[in-house]
Amino acid sequence: MIFAFAFPFRFIVDSAMEKPSILFPVTLLLFFSLTISAQKKSVDLIVQNGTVVTMDANRRIIENGAVAVEKGAIVAVGTSTTINRQFSSKQTVNAQNKIVIPGLVNTHTHIPMTLFRGIADDLDLQEWLTKFIFPAEAKNVTEDFVRVGTRLGLAEMIRGGTTTYCDMYYYEDAVADETFKAGMRGVLGETIIDFPVPDNKTHAEAIAYAEKFINKWKNNALIVPALAPHAPYTVSTEHLRNVKRLSDKLNAPIVIHVSETKKEVDDSIAGKKFRPVEYLESIGFLNNRVIVAHTVHINDAEIDILKRRGVGAAHNPQSNMKLASGVAPVPQMLAKDLAVGLGTDGAASNNDLSLWEEMDTAAKLHKVYANDPKVLTAAQAFEMATIRGARALHLEKSIGSLETGKRADIVIVDFDELHQTPFYNIYSHLVYATKADDVSTVIIDGRVVMRDRRLLTLDESVIKKDANAYRQKIITSLSN
Ligand SMILES: [Zn+2]
Repeated sequence: MIFAFAFPFRFIVDSAMEKPSILFPVTLLLFFSLTISAQKKSVDLIVQNGTVVTMDANRRIIENGAVAVEKGAIVAVGTSTTINRQFSSKQTVNAQNKIVIPGLVNTHTHIPMTLFRGIADDLDLQEWLTKFIFPAEAKNVTEDFVRVGTRLGLAEMIRGGTTTYCDMYYYEDAVADETFKAGMRGVLGETIIDFPVPDNKTHAEAIAYAEKFINKWKNNALIVPALAPHAPYTVSTEHLRNVKRLSDKLNAPIVIHVSETKKEVDDSIAGKKFRPVEYLESIGFLNNRVIVAHTVHINDAEIDILKRRGVGAAHNPQSNMKLASGVAPVPQMLAKDLAVGLGTDGAASNNDLSLWEEMDTAAKLHKVYANDPKVLTAAQAFEMATIRGARALHLEKSIGSLETGKRADIVIVDFDELHQTPFYNIYSHLVYATKADDVSTVIIDGRVVMRDRRLLTLDESVIKKDANAYRQKIITSLSN
């Protein structure tokens, strides 16, 4: 700014003493361009010329909009004209004729289970889990299996515009390592369950693993390490209390399956005299660090408990439909403004990791179940996949919308494919017409991880080769 003030002063003095010449307008032009560029702030990245769906409190949609990013955070959101007047950047993403949305939030999955995609279908949860999944896991899951499955899941999710996911599995330290290397954001929970599993043979070992894992990752920019007791019916009261104590001590989230099937609720009432959510409340387990997955069979009183305790919930419509678990009371949860997001669940019960399908399914499932097409709108489904999903993971202060100060998790979606033509309503198109393949560019924490459909942090051909190598091993293990 000193330069900007000093220069015109000298210029005026000089021009008063000398005859005007051709140098006069040229110098004037140079001065103004220097002044303007001196005022522009240089940032790391500008996404520009797109329709920006902010998902902020006013649900602002900005035509010909732009987002400026510096040090992984959003520093400004506005029209392209405004942003380009204030900021300059060597790195830009042109989103012309495209839609710019907050990165999608997958609130529940088991990412390494991509390697079990399609090994057993068309079964109910108990038969599927006890006859196929638990034995297949016991025979196949190693740290290498987890790494290969995680890379496959990460590539699939990034391709589909998911920028944050909530996981629960074994060897979660390896999941975190692969996730961080790929530049993806995750709330990652180490599974705790009351039988010997591939990474830990006892409860004490699992708790020790979890504590070490959480301490290792707790200050990471992308990873939120968590505890993942499998379910109230597979982890004893004493062990759930240990998990809660550790969560309190380390300020770590807890991810848990709750009320997934009617059988679980019936068994809970028979054995514990409480429904599952009531039982968790009775042992002091619930607070605003807990994320419950499924909650298919919960009543109004249980919704009130979840709301009062600030618990987040993950709704997994496709998994619940495929395992015929039932239909979660999502419209009732939304009516009480519960933090309920969307999840794919593991790829073995879905069988993909596309949140676009979950949005579409959620909106349609609840319409047909309630016999009311207004019961869950496209805008609500999109909200569940973004800002409400962020609330479900207790991360709404940093992600879930495109707002100044939030982390720069930004997805650019093509909007001119045949199945998107013509275009009238943005939320309708996002939920009912758009597919995972329409995502063109993905930015997580300010870093471009996919540009024009090309993954920049993961190698697809290696991922497919590694995953296929596990196929034969898994088939052989299940026939023994
Ligand atoms: Zn699950």
